Amino acid sequence: MAKRDYYEILGVTKGVSPDEIKKAYRKIALKYHPDRNPDNKEAEEKFKEAAEAYEVLSDDDKKARYDRYGHAGVNQGAGGGFTNMEDIFEQFGDIFGGSGSPFESFFGGGSRRSGSSGQRGSNLRIKVSLTLEEIAKGVTKKIKVKKQKACTTCNGSGAKDSSSIKTCATCSGGGYVRQVRSTFMGQMQTTTACPACSGAGKTVTAKCGSCRGEGREYAEELVDIEIPAGVAEGMQLSMRGKGNAGKSGGSAGDLLIVIEEKEDDRFIRDGNNIIYDLFMNFADAALGTSVEVPTLSGTVKIKVPAGTQAGKIFRLKNKGLPEVQAYRTGDQLININIWTPKELNSEERALLEKLKDMPNFKPNPGKFEKGFFERMKDMFE
Ligand SMILES: [Zn+2]
Ligand SMILES: [Zn+2]
Repeated sequence: MAKRDYYEILGVTKGVSPDEIKKAYRKIALKYHPDRNPDNKEAEEKFKEAAEAYEVLSDDDKKARYDRYGHAGVNQGAGGGFTNMEDIFEQFGDIFGGSGSPFESFFGGGSRRSGSSGQRGSNLRIKVSLTLEEIAKGVTKKIKVKKQKACTTCNGSGAKDSSSIKTCATCSGGGYVRQVRSTFMGQMQTTTACPACSGAGKTVTAKCGSCRGEGREYAEELVDIEIPAGVAEGMQLSMRGKGNAGKSGGSAGDLLIVIEEKEDDRFIRDGNNIIYDLFMNFADAALGTSVEVPTLSGTVKIKVPAGTQAGKIFRLKNKGLPEVQAYRTGDQLININIWTPKELNSEERALLEKLKDMPNFKPNPGKFEKGFFERMKDMFE
């Protein structure tokens, strides 16, 4: 299913202030919050959708990429966006103020989901190097990523064994404590993370020996990275939750993928167009010929008409690169270069001596052909 436009989801127009984006999001989040719409799948989807839109539009860097490249610029990984409600609640800390207090506090109660405890893992950044062919079609890369994963000895709990995990006495294992406080919405019963166990609901009396209580260790993981067609050098994609594992069962960070373009010895990329330099000798250019040229999708035979000048540009429509998540595809431009011999044997010299003063060999650009600047003008029209 095609993703909806993030601005449309939040009901704002491009160019509104960050404050207005925040306001719009808050309104939607309150309306569709699961605590207000229990067992309402549609509300939950709307809630998630809005959270994803806000996550992008509230981040200057992501917003800039989204404005430029659409959804592909902020690729949230297969399935896309928030899959985990817990991640969404984490995001609320900065929206609704309060020291990271979870959103559900505004509605009193609300279950704190297990696994939400601990510290979020850090983001990982990797580079992926692509050929122009891969960029033209889009590609899925299997990349080995060295990262922190949940410790296999303790399963991420950080505890030596199950008997060294004790229910937290302060919160009786709930992970939060309730308070009544005044908010801008009136008297609210709020729940905040338990100060004794930081919301884990458990305390560890003896630490796991392999990870020293961290709950994570370094390991390699093979990750499938889907790269959309048309990406360019320096673009960054992100896969949510594929970064480093969190501490003591906290949620994982993101995997950030930075695109690198491999140099190509046949083509020069110019935006979505690719440029190919074709060299031919003067005789072929004068007589006309047909030549095979490489493209990103195999070779193509082109006809070079008699009397073709150096600097002439032929255009192969749609043989360039697609725009990321758009319908336009660039062209391949074939730039004609006329090869002038560097050395001549006596026979060649004699023939050229004979040709050079022939009547049709006198340059007459005004009458027959455009010069360099005229051609440039045509190219950018
Ligand atoms: Zn461990
Ligand atoms: Zn506790």
